[in-house]
Parts: sequence; C-alpha cells; structure tokens
Amino acid sequence: MERLASAGRFLCLTAQTALAFPTALGRPTSAHDRAVLVFSGFRTLNAKVNPMIPPFENSYVRLPENFGARLNPTPVANPRLIVLNVALAEELGLGVDWLIGESGLAMLSGNKVPECAEPIAQAYAGHQFGQWVPQLGDGRALLLGEVRDRRGRLRDIQLKGSGPTPFSRGGDGRSSIGPVVREYLGSEAMAALGIPTTRALAAVSTGETVQREQPVPGGILCRVAASHVRIGTFEFFARSGKDDDVRTLADFVIQRHYPSCSDQERPYAALLEQISRRTAQLVSAWMSVGFVHGVMNTDNLAISGETLDYGPFGFLDTFAPDTAFSYIDRRGRYAWSRQPMIANWNLARLAECLLPLLDDDPNTALETGNSLLTEFQSNFESEFHSRLVAKIGLTESSPTNIELATDLLDRMADNQVDMTLLFRALSHLNARPSEQDATARKLFNQPDSFDHWAKNWRTALAADGQDDSQRQHAMQAVNPAFIPRNHLAQRVADAAVNDLDFAALHEMLKVFSRPYEEQPEYAHYQQPPQPDEVVANTFCGT
Ligand code: AMP
Ligand code: MG
Repeated sequence: MERLASAGRFLCLTAQTALAFPTALGRPTSAHDRAVLVFSGFRTLNAKVNPMIPPFENSYVRLPENFGARLNPTPVANPRLIVLNVALAEELGLGVDWLIGESGLAMLSGNKVPECAEPIAQAYAGHQFGQWVPQLGDGRALLLGEVRDRRGRLRDIQLKGSGPTPFSRGGDGRSSIGPVVREYLGSEAMAALGIPTTRALAAVSTGETVQREQPVPGGILCRVAASHVRIGTFEFFARSGKDDDVRTLADFVIQRHYPSCSDQERPYAALLEQISRRTAQLVSAWMSVGFVHGVMNTDNLAISGETLDYGPFGFLDTFAPDTAFSYIDRRGRYAWSRQPMIANWNLARLAECLLPLLDDDPNTALETGNSLLTEFQSNFESEFHSRLVAKIGLTESSPTNIELATDLLDRMADNQVDMTLLFRALSHLNARPSEQDATARKLFNQPDSFDHWAKNWRTALAADGQDDSQRQHAMQAVNPAFIPRNHLAQRVADAAVNDLDFAALHEMLKVFSRPYEEQPEYAHYQQPPQPDEVVANTFCGT
C-alpha cells in the first residue's frame, strides 16, 4: 500500500515538474498515453512522460480506510465533451490540449483513470430537512484526486454522475444531462459574481440514457472544489462515536483550509470560529444577489465556505423573502430569508461533533461551543448589512444607513419589485432626481413608495459625500446586471435534455462571465421571466 502510494506520488511529481516548463507537445498520441500509464517509480524519470496528465495528489485517500470506498468510475458508451472551462484548466495548471484529446475525454467521462489518480467515494452522513440520516456518502460521484493550482492550493477534482458506489442506496449513480448543465451554468455564474463556490471544469454527455420520470440523456460534471468535506462528513464519524476520526478530519481540514488555526492556543475552537465566519460571509453573499441554495442539508454545506451542490437552487426574480424553490420543501425551510438561521442550525450540528475536541471538560466544551455559535448571528448581520449598504451606494454601515437599506427591502417585498433590476437601476441614478428615476419607479406596484424612499436615500447620499460617477461605479460593481435567472437555467437544461443542444449554455456562460458589465446586445438576459416562463419549483437534480 505505502509502496504503491509513493509510486503514485512520484509519477505525479514528475508530471508536475514538467508542467512548469512551457511545452508545445500538442495533442498526445494514444501510444504516448499508454507509455505514461504503464510506467511507475523511477523508470518514469527516463520515460517520455506526457506532462499534461493531471498531476494528482491523493491526500484524502491517505486518511483512514473508513473515510470512503475506493473504486473506479463505471465506463460510459459514447462520451462527448460538451464544454471545457479553459480558464479554470489554466488556473489548475492542466493542459487544455490533453483535456480535449482522447485521454482527457476518457478521464472526464470516467472511462479511464489516470495512473496517479486513486478514485474514492467519500463517506458522509447528514441532517436532511432536519432529520438525521446516518449514512449518505458519494452515491453518484467520485473524487479522482487533488491537483495543486497555480497559487499552490490543493483543489479536488470530482466526477459527478460517474456510476454507482457503495453509497448509492438503490440510486443509479448517474446524472441526467439537465442538472449537469444547470450546475455548470449556476456555479460558473456564481464564481463570476465573486461568490465562493465549487467550479465546473467540464461537462460530458455519456451517450447513454438514464431513467428518471422518463428516459433522459446522461451526463457527467467534472467538479472542482477547495475540498468536498462537509458538515455531514464530521457527523458521519462523530455520531458513531469515532472521536479519533473526528480529530483526524479536523486536522486535515485545518491543514487544508484553515492553517492559521494550528498556531492558536485552542486550534479546534479557532477552527469552529473560522468555519462559522466563512459561512456567515457566504450566506450574506448569497442573499445579496437573491440566491437561494434550496437544500441546505448539513451534507450540502462545505467546510471550506464554498457554495456546494447546485440541486434545486434558484435566484429571486420578484423580491419575496419567503421564496423556497425546492419542490420537496413544502414548508419553506430553506427559503431565502431563512438561510442564515439554517446555516446557524447546521453549524450547531458541527459544533456538537467538535465538542470532544474543544475541551476535556464537557461543560467547558459546551460553553465554548455555544459562545461561538452566538457569534454567527452578529457576524452574519454585519456582513449582510455592509453588503446591503454598499448596494445602495453608501460607504458606512451606520444604523441609519442600515435602516434605510432594510426599509428598501420591505418596500420591495410590498411592491413585488424585481430585485436585480431594481438594484441595477439604482446604480445608474444621480444624487439629484432626474428622468432616469422612472427606470426604478416603474418596478414598484405603487411608485410613490419608491419616491418616498428615494427622498431619504438622497439625503443619505448627500451626507455620504461621494460624487455620482464614483458612487455609480462602486454600485455597479456589487449590483449585477446579469444573473442566471431560473427560467434561463431551465431553458439551458431543457435544450440539453430534449435536443442535446448546448448553444444556449455556451451563450449564457459567456454572458454570465461578465455579470457586472453592461452588455447591451444581451439585454434580453436581464429580463425577468414572462408569466409562462416562471419556474416555481426546482428539482433535486439527480
Ligand atoms: P443530493 O440531493 O445531491 O445532495 O444527494 C443526497 C444523497 O443522495 C447523496 O448521498 C447522493 O450521493 C445521493 N444521490 C443523489 N442522486 C443519486 C443517484 N442518481 N444515484 C445514487 N445516489 C444518489
Ligand atoms: Mg449533496
């Protein structure tokens, strides 16, 4: 085992070293690939190594055996590359030529595992809609390994839809092409909005159908994440009394995501505090653009602070704080406005897992845990309020400015205002009233509600003292013109499922990659849905 591991590492290192040199090898031949795949150990040094093979590291696989199940993806009939994220590939130091070639497609579809990858289905548990589920795990995904990006950070490369695993619980381990392209679009749009998120490296169609309500084309997403460790990963061990595994996982997470904790007097309390802080930042960022995660179960909340698992996610069109999109979320547990409360609830479940590490004395541990949880609320509020204040063009998070911003939200809710259109419209207005006010006014059912607010806003603007162009510029950098509204994401998914047509996906990826810029030729993508286009419910996305 250890021998194999070092052979794997060696091959990876060789490839990584080679990557540092600008190469012009072009597309590799398959004979060349074979040569790489059969060599290991010292012979690699002298072999013609294709430097474009992802230099996988496998730190997760080195954790204790019960952290997952090692297996290979199940091959698919006829894979085709739908889209490759060239910028992300470059950020990860991966060869684009290799990825689009035969071997790259074989990896992205799960048909061939590169030599230095050691795929693993990760074990986790979770609270789903508040109910404890002792075993979930990657039922349709496999972690291929980790690569070190250009900034030296380890990033997970995962295939989602790669076939059954021991965690599939009767599921087929596959994904329909619809949710694959929806997640690709959603996560890339979020990244462009500047919101921490897992990324999409590639999407592949499998050439096979999967049985859902009816047979639909299958797809595989290649997902990139800071890591896939979730709150549910901690729960998996903690709730079965595996304190040693909890500690091992916590140490792994500290090393990978929160290295500064190891210098602290109480590293695990510091860890909980930092995860809580990042989660508060994340949820406030979501809410500032109207994002609703949709299924904030503890198994879908990443420890890294990245948005994870784009299932029934959605964006508010009309500002209605109680909106929940998930078809199965009848009671609105995961509605837009409840996200901070749920994040806090989830963090409480994490804190429970960490209790044995917080202090030897259970009472002290409980006290520490509770005081850290209390901080979430104030952290969230200060993050969210400063975002809101910035959205209305003010620089100071003073109580009056916060009140002004929340007053606007109340009026938006009362007047069924489109959230994205309004904030973007505000970002074009001047400190003095002008004809242009009409663009904001007309979004209110009762336009004088806007007039009343705008009067107070202009008083605050005068007190703030920025000049118009400086303020407008700042506002346009936080109030997107383009978000992947639900009807647009649905359009992309429908075209993929019904016709294997990816033109809409490609066009929207281009538009949503510059969400804060005016793109007059794509102005139609700014518009809310027509009544017959409204997507009221989103589906779990398997
Ligand atoms: P999700 O709703 O995507 O967060 O998934 C919840 C759990 O269901 C996870 O353990 C998934 O791996 C599993 N799961 C979802 N879809 C499938 C599928 N098609 N086959 C097997 N397991 C699945
Ligand atoms: Mg999930």
